[in-house]
Amino acid sequence: MFIDEYISGAEPVRGKILLVDDQVVNIKILHQLLQADYDIYMARDGHQAIDMSKKVKPDIVLLDIEMPMLNGFDVCAHLKNDPETEDVAVIFVSGHFDEDKEVKGFQLGAVDFIHKPINPVITKARIKNQIKLKLNSDLLRAIALLDGLTGVANRRKFEQVLPVSWLQCAREKQPLTIILLDIDFFKHFNDTYGHTEGDICLRAVAQKIQDTVNRPYDLVARFGGEEFICVLPNTDLIGGTYVAQQIVDSIVSLKIAHKNSPISDFVTISAGVSTIVPMFDMPNKILVETADKQLYLAKDRGRNRVLGCLVEENT
Ligand SMILES: [Mg+2]
Repeated sequence: MFIDEYISGAEPVRGKILLVDDQVVNIKILHQLLQADYDIYMARDGHQAIDMSKKVKPDIVLLDIEMPMLNGFDVCAHLKNDPETEDVAVIFVSGHFDEDKEVKGFQLGAVDFIHKPINPVITKARIKNQIKLKLNSDLLRAIALLDGLTGVANRRKFEQVLPVSWLQCAREKQPLTIILLDIDFFKHFNDTYGHTEGDICLRAVAQKIQDTVNRPYDLVARFGGEEFICVLPNTDLIGGTYVAQQIVDSIVSLKIAHKNSPISDFVTISAGVSTIVPMFDMPNKILVETADKQLYLAKDRGRNRVLGCLVEENT
């Protein structure tokens, strides 16, 4: 994820709206009103609404209050309590004005109310405002998780992603691999060429790592100064070591001059890989510590190389 994509984005972002109502006629009216401007999804009951919200990640849910089984309030509470859906903007659509209901709705986290029969102009305006707010806050959230210099994810994002990947792999009994990377002799580089060139080098290296690690659910983050970290779910040690070697080779192929490197004419990088099939009750820091030890060994054995190991259960 790069900052430029958000700011200059080639395609303008089209908001996604989920319409939830047990009466088909109400969905039809809203669909007709909104389909030209937004991507529209529909659900006929509360359970479907929750499933669809997880699947399509709408920006706004237009939520009928009176529905059989799960009513709109229940659905709203559910969406707001799930980290996967908590950011969605909920607008209640209610049959008539009822102050107590509106109070309850806002307390549950709704952003607005619309009353049936809907007024098309008011409804469109309210939705347009809420979409704008939602997309702006998405943008801010995304920027807050990016490294300003290199454009890859930052450490905070890594700290959010690792526990999620850990749980996911624990559930599926799949291996989880991380790669810790450190540019070799980067202090020499800065001392030789200056910090501006150092920044340019960091950006080029980050971009190259991001290009090499290209499955959508993998993460590349800047871990510290000249350190980067990759999180590769559903990846075993052989696969992770292969990716790490590709990264190491790709950095050499950038041919960024580094005349004071004791080992090469060009910038190189070292990698430590660690893999585990996670258990729920294990702390995830063991994975980072193991990768760090492997990175240290890779440095010790001459740099510009990959070392990796499995995390043993009894460590
Ligand atoms: Mg209804």
